[in-house]
Amino acid sequence: MREVFIPDHLDEVWDILEREPEALLYAGGTDLLVRLRFDFAGSPVRRFAGSLICLERIDELKSIHEADGQIFIGSCVSHTKLMENLLIQKHFPFLIQAVKVLGSPPIRNMGTIGGNICTASPAGDTLPPLYTLGAIVEIRSIDSNRLVPLKGFIKGPGKTALQRSEIVYGVWINTDQDYNVCYYEKVGQRKALAIAIASFAALLKLSESGIIEKALFAWGSVAPVIVASREVEGALIGRPLTAESLKSVVPLVEKAVSPIDDVRASAEYRRMVAGNLLFRLLQYGNHGST
Ligand SMILES: Cc1cc2nc3c(=O)[nH]c(=O)nc-3n(C[C@H](O)[C@H](O)[C@H](O)COP(=O)(O)OP(=O)(O)OC[C@H]3O[C@@H](n4cnc5c(N)ncnc54)[C@H](O)[C@@H]3O)c2cc1C
Repeated sequence: MREVFIPDHLDEVWDILEREPEALLYAGGTDLLVRLRFDFAGSPVRRFAGSLICLERIDELKSIHEADGQIFIGSCVSHTKLMENLLIQKHFPFLIQAVKVLGSPPIRNMGTIGGNICTASPAGDTLPPLYTLGAIVEIRSIDSNRLVPLKGFIKGPGKTALQRSEIVYGVWINTDQDYNVCYYEKVGQRKALAIAIASFAALLKLSESGIIEKALFAWGSVAPVIVASREVEGALIGRPLTAESLKSVVPLVEKAVSPIDDVRASAEYRRMVAGNLLFRLLQYGNHGST
């Protein structure tokens, strides 16, 4: 029978990992426990018979706090707790827009930000906002502590920079974000409980007269990893937020993405949606408020 460890402190995690280096970690289990039972893609996870370590009781992984101009979000913070947190509401309402459309209430109660990051799915709803916010992942092991930008942490679908016996401790996000428009949208097959066909996160700084002074964009589900294109962003700087400006960068978006056909949508449709999502920003044209 499989052993499941439920430690109360990180020290216990390190002890267990020393004894059982192959053990798999989980937090809410909404990805891992499902994959252990039903993995239609036939990945090795389906055949894994070793021990599991559940992180959900470790209080320090559930903390959200501010330190030195940054907000720390512990890896085991559930999506519901993230949405309810006053610091997140104040500084990153944007992240809440994304989490609101992640799964259903039970999934948001169980699922965590660390789990969403470590699953490293291009459809992960927290990823595009975290990319644009420049989130840094804190990784810990028994004897080390390292910080890796989220962009470098995610290597491909299901692949991360985590080494054996390391865990994601949490993410750090600078509070000093220079934007006055934030936008997140997920296009799915349904309005609720749908994995993204394409998603789009945008942070803009608009001048009073509606000129784009700063732009940060990230697209999900249109490539093996989240797509952020400096070319698209750069081409809009100094231009008014108009349909004409946005139209002029659509070819750059189409070049930046590399979608696949799957059961949810064709590559061609995803490419078109990625470009069209830019036009949602027009609602903020000619004024600089969120
Ligand atoms: C019905 C359903 C609907 C869903 N809808 C969405 C959706 O709309 N959008 C979306 O983005 N996702 C969705 N998901 C996926 C999932 O709920 C989220 O990705 C969630 O955030 C995963 O968090 P978790 O804590 O449950 O992860 P877990 O299942 O606990 O873990 C996921 C992976 O991360 C690893 N892991 C977890 N925590 C750590 C850590 N601290 N350190 C190292 N590794 C760790 C695990 O080993 C595992 O590989 C859905 C899932 C289900 C079942």
